[in-house]
Amino acid sequence: MEWRFGDGTALSGGLVSTSGMETDAEKAQEPVSFDYYYIVTDKCTECQGFHETPQCAEVCPVDCCVTDEDHVETESALLQKKAFLHAE
Ligand code: SF4
Repeated sequence: MEWRFGDGTALSGGLVSTSGMETDAEKAQEPVSFDYYYIVTDKCTECQGFHETPQCAEVCPVDCCVTDEDHVETESALLQKKAFLHAE
């Protein structure tokens, strides 16, 4: 399924993501996969600033939220991403 930076965030218009991706908040982005659910690294903050633990992993009944070892981020980086995505 396509995704957008603007969905569920305060972002609008042109932007450069915290990973350096230059795009528009309303632009439909290419899905990572059509075959399985995925988490968009550029939008996931591991719930930093909102909850003490990643809420998707907390509620998943079959423990299908697995850590992406290619995208391990510090708490500081996650909080910076949260501020970028959800600034008012
Ligand atoms: S860890 Fe939090 S921010 Fe990341 S996908 Fe799960 S619920 Fe969303």
